[in-house]
Amino acid sequence: MESFVPALAMAVVVFVISVVVLRKVMPASLVRLYDRLPSRRRTVFTADDIRRRATDVLNRLADELSGTNPGDVDGDLYERAGLARSEGERALDSSRLTDLIGALALARSGLDDLRVAAGRSHVRYAPCFFNPLHDQATKEIAYPIGAGTVSVPACRHCHGDIRRGVRDLDAVPSDTRPGEPYFLGDDKWAVTGYGALVDDLPTALFRYEQARRETTS
Ligand SMILES: [Zn+2]
Repeated sequence: MESFVPALAMAVVVFVISVVVLRKVMPASLVRLYDRLPSRRRTVFTADDIRRRATDVLNRLADELSGTNPGDVDGDLYERAGLARSEGERALDSSRLTDLIGALALARSGLDDLRVAAGRSHVRYAPCFFNPLHDQATKEIAYPIGAGTVSVPACRHCHGDIRRGVRDLDAVPSDTRPGEPYFLGDDKWAVTGYGALVDDLPTALFRYEQARRETTS
């Protein structure tokens, strides 16, 4: 104990000196920036905003589909874009925020798939798992859910938040469980991650609905 106390006191002194020295050598602007870190501005939206945006993109998708000759493009991706349109329009009928965000994610993925099908782009839609209203995902990150850890695609901001240990991520809120993120539920959006967890979102949703109808009938 006699030797432990001086060692502890010394460690405290060293720590304090380090902090003081660090703050002296850090440029003032960096210190100010550090003091202001984070918190990140949350994504603010209303159901009407999302519905309007989803309707716009779905209309654009419908226009591009009708202006495309299926014989001239990749047939599988063309079909997928068509299914994204019908699933998106179905989701748009809902008043739930999670469904409206889904309609927007479907519209965007359909539009990207159609452009890839026509050889006008090589980039498919890559939503951030936590919130498809964010910038698109840039890389995967390990994230603990329940007893396990999953690797999920995330935008730059969410990636940074998780690396810093931020617990309150700017995730889509659950419609049914207040205060919880959507992905802790068990609906079609939690299962597909708005396309972050599956390669083909429209087909995954179609099959999910089909299985649900068979179980309930
Ligand atoms: Zn994100």
